[in-house]
Amino acid sequence: MKKILEELCGFVDPEIKKLNGYYNANYLIKNQGQKYIFKTYLNEGNTADILNAENDTLVFLQETKSAEYPSPVLFLNGSTVANFEMDGKDVICRMLSFIDGEFLGDVAHSKKLFNSFGCFLAKMNLKLQSYNHYTIQARQINWDIQYLNLNKEYIADIDNAKDRSVVQYFFQQFEENVIPAIPKLRKCIIHNDANEWNVLCANGKVSGIIDFGDLVYSPLINELAVAITYACYDKEDPLVWTPDIVKGYNDVLSLQQEELAILYYLVAAQLCISVCNSAKSRKEDPENEYAFSSEESAWKMIYRWLAINPIAAKNCFLDAVGFNKIDPMSLEKVVDVRHQFISPILSLSYAKPIYMDRSAFQYMYDVNGNTYLDAYNNIPHVGHSHPRVVEAGQRQMAKLNTNTRYLYDQLSEYAERLLSHFPDSVNKVYFVNSGSAATDLAIRLAQAHTGHKNMMVMEHGYHGNTQNGIDISDYKFSHKVGSGQKGHILKTVIPDTYRGEYKGQTEDVGSRYAQDAIQQIAESEEPLAAFISEPVVGCGGQVPLAKGYLKALYPAIRKQGGVCISDEVQTGFGRLGDHFWGYEAQGVVPDIVILGKPMGNGHPIGAVVTTTEIAESFGKGVEFFSSFGGNPVSCAIGLAVLDVIKEEELQANAKHVGDYYQSLFRQLQNEYDCVGDVRGSGLFIGVEIIQKRETLESDQQLASHIKNELRNRNILISTDGPSDSVLKTKPPLCFTKENAELVTSNIHDILKEVTRS
Ligand code: PMP
Repeated sequence: MKKILEELCGFVDPEIKKLNGYYNANYLIKNQGQKYIFKTYLNEGNTADILNAENDTLVFLQETKSAEYPSPVLFLNGSTVANFEMDGKDVICRMLSFIDGEFLGDVAHSKKLFNSFGCFLAKMNLKLQSYNHYTIQARQINWDIQYLNLNKEYIADIDNAKDRSVVQYFFQQFEENVIPAIPKLRKCIIHNDANEWNVLCANGKVSGIIDFGDLVYSPLINELAVAITYACYDKEDPLVWTPDIVKGYNDVLSLQQEELAILYYLVAAQLCISVCNSAKSRKEDPENEYAFSSEESAWKMIYRWLAINPIAAKNCFLDAVGFNKIDPMSLEKVVDVRHQFISPILSLSYAKPIYMDRSAFQYMYDVNGNTYLDAYNNIPHVGHSHPRVVEAGQRQMAKLNTNTRYLYDQLSEYAERLLSHFPDSVNKVYFVNSGSAATDLAIRLAQAHTGHKNMMVMEHGYHGNTQNGIDISDYKFSHKVGSGQKGHILKTVIPDTYRGEYKGQTEDVGSRYAQDAIQQIAESEEPLAAFISEPVVGCGGQVPLAKGYLKALYPAIRKQGGVCISDEVQTGFGRLGDHFWGYEAQGVVPDIVILGKPMGNGHPIGAVVTTTEIAESFGKGVEFFSSFGGNPVSCAIGLAVLDVIKEEELQANAKHVGDYYQSLFRQLQNEYDCVGDVRGSGLFIGVEIIQKRETLESDQQLASHIKNELRNRNILISTDGPSDSVLKTKPPLCFTKENAELVTSNIHDILKEVTRS
């Protein structure tokens, strides 16, 4: 190296120190009291062109005559780029002046510093706006946010399936929110790598910037996006810090609304580029620690960024530069408009309804910029807007969507995959579009197969909104404005261990309740076509059927000529943690299973799964056809849901997080008398709110207060049960332990407040 430096620069015995570099080797050189940076690169393809372009840009920037940017140092032969051979490789090199300062990554951060950071970048960009270079303009690199999609192939290199999904989510958001905006954005040459180890500070201000190796011709706003990303890497609340950078920038170079409108997604994109390239580097060279040194910070920030409502970010950026924030329609107005066209029979959640805008995984975002932790909705089973599900739907919708009277692969593929989750005896499936349609069809199957009409149903059960569905749903027909129990319905008592006849008993409770039901059947004049129940009765207040109940009852149903139906609309697809289907916890196999809600993660799919014998009986009747049931789009979405459950190990997560979540509720139960039974399984939990332990009298008012107070604290749960006094929590299965802690600590605070007053 010394020989090379002597030949190129005439330096005699300089001091040489090797520095870290991402792709190339850099050296700090000291010669006769002067410091320099000597940069070497493998000469590949267009390296020389790029280095010359970089040097040209630096020379242009030197016109300011301040030491803010490194300047190219001429070699003895008058050039700024030279070649030499090292270890048989063609190496290309250049020398730059050394600029002083402390790295942004090493100094204490302050609002003033961040403001000066914004100013500094804007000054540089302002200057670069009057410069162009065709080599840079033609450049397409992975680290240029506008070419985010060049990194798509590296998503697969990310180890953890959930991490992959979050990155894929932001790629999709980029597609939707940024790509259409790009043609309208101002572009110029930008530094594109204002990270904490490239930005230099002095006297509490940003004073310089180095490493122009990522120069690109890109939307101007990307400069700020990169800067914000790295400046906020380790910040608990990034939106507290970003306004200063944005404002500092805008004071020098005015930002446009369209630029600020997409800044949230650009920062997310930069984070994605960072983690994708770390994953790629790890795969290619696991020893190169430098390549993924900042990976952990990037992941932390991605998850923090995900919890930020994009509207909150947009408002924060707009506000920083004095633009008006987004002003949504008032809640009253939105409710009024809704009621002009929609009957109030479709009720709204919460005393103060929520006007939603978007959602992602376990978060929902409203139009005012609030982020809600969704601890309630079980339909977005694998997470709101899950990118795998979205992609599956988009792709298939753009390709073929038709009905089951044509042949296409998705129907059989999905049917096979779905049925692989059932025992061999349950091997035929009918696809419909809702849980209600599935219930209706299940009743028809049972009646066709048995030739009977009567149905035994569970107290407080709910199975659907069709007339058949209402007829078998005690929750509806016994409601004070319900139509009452029909003659062909036999209702049996909910096998509850917390309340009811056998409350407090631990031995054989399930079989005792079952014996009572069997007695009821014996006393009934006509045989049953079917017995239907959920394994955990949702509308009953998340009441799990007492242990042993179905095992004792199912044989009796079959013996008198009926079939057994399990409604897994709420409990299926791994939510219960221990089992994929709720009936498995009871050690039985039903004859008919009803599926819905989580099956399509929000896309309307339902299904009835049954045995060959029942399907054959039903096949003797009129043709069954559903216009939408089993269409290719629904099947593709259903398949994606099954894939995600498996790849993200969501059943195991439901068990792991659910057990912990229940234990936190049990701690509340120990502390507060008003917390009665804590029950359920996995991420399907009910918590009774009672007035007194001795009487178990329900406290509907307090339950409602908790629900609404949580809503005011941006946490979504609901209430249910015969007295509407059971807190119901059944979040998307990507829910985390930290999420569980947030819910229970807030309930703790609410109860502390209530018991104090
Ligand atoms: N069965 C159960 C157990 C349900 O909870 C529901 C919906 N709440 C249904 C069936 C009906 O499903 P859908 O609303 O999709 O028609």
